[in-house]
Amino acid sequence: KAKKSISQNYQFYQPEMEDEMAERLSLLRKLRTDFSRDKLELWYQPQISLSTKQVVGMEALLRWPVADGQYISPAVFIPLAEYSGLIVEIGSWVLEQACQQIKHLASQGYNNLRIAVNVSMPQFRNHHFVQTVIDCVNRYSIDPALLELEITESVVMDEPKIVIDALQKLKNAGIKVAIDDFGIGFSSLSYLQQLPLDRIKVDRAFVREVTEPAGEVIAQTIINLGKRLGLSTIAEGVETVEQQQAVEAMGCDEVQGFLFAKPMPTAELLQYLAANNTEKVAKS
Ligand code: C2E
Ligand code: MG
Ligand code: MG
Ligand code: MG
Repeated sequence: KAKKSISQNYQFYQPEMEDEMAERLSLLRKLRTDFSRDKLELWYQPQISLSTKQVVGMEALLRWPVADGQYISPAVFIPLAEYSGLIVEIGSWVLEQACQQIKHLASQGYNNLRIAVNVSMPQFRNHHFVQTVIDCVNRYSIDPALLELEITESVVMDEPKIVIDALQKLKNAGIKVAIDDFGIGFSSLSYLQQLPLDRIKVDRAFVREVTEPAGEVIAQTIINLGKRLGLSTIAEGVETVEQQQAVEAMGCDEVQGFLFAKPMPTAELLQYLAANNTEKVAKS
């Protein structure tokens, strides 16, 4: 046993791991600085109804520009922000931006477009979270039903009681909730009935394989599950017309993916909405 712990310590002190730690810490410092200097951006990816072929909303996605057109992926910096707790502040900023955007869109005549915001576990652990969200909606006097929170299965599984409780309060306030990346956590089925959800997002991994037999079965099962529970379903990561037609035939309600639009900054979003690129959506 002693030997094992010595070898574990030895492993821990591998120089390349130290380098990696140092690198992450320096990246986190840079994130903190850039966030405090208002350098983060919130981009938007349209979501399209398969029944009307119209844009019905969008997902807000963080972007961290670093140097001449380069961005650090959220897949890299979100885990750092979560680990350090910085995501609580960043998340409040994202929420504020999203509510402001809902208000702005309404002023441009788009008064029925919802915005979905991703929420991490450290935000739920914060006792002020629910009130922060409700205050934000009130401050901009927007329709709470136009704000949607996206949570992943891992968030639910981490602290089911805290999350269910918070979601119930948010639902009572009229705010919508979607479960993100559904199907890859595969352990939250037991909680599905207790969660006050509005929408299930079929994970990109299943959409990618939806035209193959195995992928087809899983996507159809998730969509059926959503239907049986009275929830709306959206397929994420739709990149081809074949994938769109497949999920459409399965009865999926909405789609989001590069086939329609990539995430874009506000100015471009307004152009996209004005151009109302519906012809890109194949007619069924
Ligand atoms: P997510 O919430 O599952 O977001 C969907 C991701 O899929 C986004 O990646 C989006 O750009 C990408 N995507 C959409 N359509 C397609 C497609 O057709 N093909 C491909 N290959 N990708 C597609 P992104 O923007 O890099 O974000 C990655 C993750 O970072 C998000 O996954 C989310 O978990 C997290 N994230 C992003 N913004 C926020 C935020 O404001 N707060 C929190 N807590 N997490 C965020
Ligand atoms: Mg999401
Ligand atoms: Mg997702
Ligand atoms: Mg994801």
